[in-house]
Amino acid sequence: MVKQYGPEDCLLVIDVQNDFMPGGALAVAHGDEVVPVINRLAAAFAHVVLTQDWHPAGHVSFAANHAGTQPFQTVALPYGQQVLWPTHCVQGSHGAALHAGLDVPHAQMVIRKGHHRQVDSYSAFMEADRITRTGLGGYLRERGVRRVFCVGLATDYCVAWSALDARAAGFEAIVIEDACRAIDLGGSLARAWLDLEAAGAQRLQSAGLLY
Ligand SMILES: [Zn+2]
Repeated sequence: MVKQYGPEDCLLVIDVQNDFMPGGALAVAHGDEVVPVINRLAAAFAHVVLTQDWHPAGHVSFAANHAGTQPFQTVALPYGQQVLWPTHCVQGSHGAALHAGLDVPHAQMVIRKGHHRQVDSYSAFMEADRITRTGLGGYLRERGVRRVFCVGLATDYCVAWSALDARAAGFEAIVIEDACRAIDLGGSLARAWLDLEAAGAQRLQSAGLLY
């Protein structure tokens, strides 16, 4: 018997987009393996929200927009340190589209993030300037959600930042480890799990949530 999750629970499916899949512009190793796990989980949730990383071509997070830099190096921007990435998830591109195998027709909202040219947004709740809100916290609160279950790509960036901001916004946060895959740049995955634990986010496996 598969458990069912009601109106106080939301499955937040983060950035399951072509550019983060093997062969994509910013490929996460084994990123495609999350798709069937997320599909199984989503069937148990009445309330699913999807996110899409959604950048203008001139986005500040792209190494191509900073002369003399290479992807994966860090630069100082007005709002803090920023990892420079390969050009990815450009608005309207195939790479920005959701993975074709994602089977979540009952998802009720898609929130697009990283659309301000001068600010990145790993988190689904708040942009990297740590000031600009996406509106997701207000939406979830108005819908009566208390628990946010985070899945998708990548564990150590957009999933972790979203779960941490869910906690900061007053929600319970659960990261479903086997429904995520990591980039793991310079120890970022281990740091993310430490930060999540310190913030009171739970780390669970999908099987334990479904049965
Ligand atoms: Zn991005």
